[in-house]
Amino acid sequence: MKKSKELTDQKSCMSRAKDDEMVFVLLARDWASPATIRFWIAERIRIGKNKPGDPQIIEAEKCAEAMEEDDVLTCPVCLLGIREPTSLKEGDPCPGGCVGVDGVTVKLGIPW
Ligand SMILES: [Zn+2]
Repeated sequence: MKKSKELTDQKSCMSRAKDDEMVFVLLARDWASPATIRFWIAERIRIGKNKPGDPQIIEAEKCAEAMEEDDVLTCPVCLLGIREPTSLKEGDPCPGGCVGVDGVTVKLGIPW
């Protein structure tokens, strides 16, 4: 859920959290977030709190997918995705040293 909706929607997790309850926020730009959400999905199903296909599980998976598509600088060859705050920008060479078949250095975020 987008931050603005999370804070204003009366049914959101943040709105339903008790005033003295600990919460943990995952940001879309954190490369670790999608995998963490998928672990939470698996754990919720394992402990019997949810079943696959529950609306809460579907929403969580959609959130993980949306995070993966958000602000990712991708190498078109190795598909390396760079999400963390970084000094790299679109057009920089792939830090993995990828080179295209024509010998030209591949550039992040630019179709090959
Ligand atoms: Zn690469």
